[in-house]
Amino acid sequence: MPARLNLVILGKQGAGKGTQCKRLASIYALPHVSTGDILRAAVKAGTPLGREVASVLEAGALVSDDLVIKLVEERLEEPDARKGALLDGFPRTLAQAEALERLLGGDGIKLCIDLEVPTGLVTERLSSRRVCQECGAIYRDSDIEAISGTCEKCGGDVIQRADDRPEAIRQRLEAYERDTEPLLAFYESRGLLASVNGDQSPDDVTDAIQAAVSARGLA
Ligand code: ADP
Repeated sequence: MPARLNLVILGKQGAGKGTQCKRLASIYALPHVSTGDILRAAVKAGTPLGREVASVLEAGALVSDDLVIKLVEERLEEPDARKGALLDGFPRTLAQAEALERLLGGDGIKLCIDLEVPTGLVTERLSSRRVCQECGAIYRDSDIEAISGTCEKCGGDVIQRADDRPEAIRQRLEAYERDTEPLLAFYESRGLLASVNGDQSPDDVTDAIQAAVSARGLA
């Protein structure tokens, strides 16, 4: 079996991790593992996990390390993750990064891509972001009238995420700076960090990520 290709995608909220992961998932035939999507799906379905985390998500705070680590551990045991996975939104604390290393072994993570976007720009992107409640497709607030609030891909309702309101945006960006930014040094010290400019067209960002992956002979 070829070596597993586990890639961590880091970047502030609104940096474009989800958009890029969807593209990379099809390019590399890897599952897109987004802890945010898993948690939101649980809230929507009203499962015990969802009921436990609903208020945390709405406030834009972080769910406990133990809970997310267990969630990711279970997800990575599924057959489609045997070849590797694109990790989006995890790890986002040092404790999670250390747990992931234990879970996958020392050479488990092949590369960590940091999507760099200035805070002013992500704040603007998040405030104007609207999402389809059913399929997760992303729109801008300026598109809403043209589509009458209905997703063009699946007909679902297009809404504003509760945590894309100003107070929650501030909270999430603060949490990023405090808890997640230290991971840059963590991966850098292991020679695993590649920074990519996220302030360019989605196609150019994808090209830059692919170039970083190929430069290391990973795919
Ligand atoms: P964003 O990165 O834009 O905040 P996500 O979709 O990645 O959005 O995550 C949404 C929310 O889910 C977070 O604000 C947090 O409450 C929770 N969450 C997601 N991933 C993690 C994680 N690794 N650790 C703790 N909480 C998480």
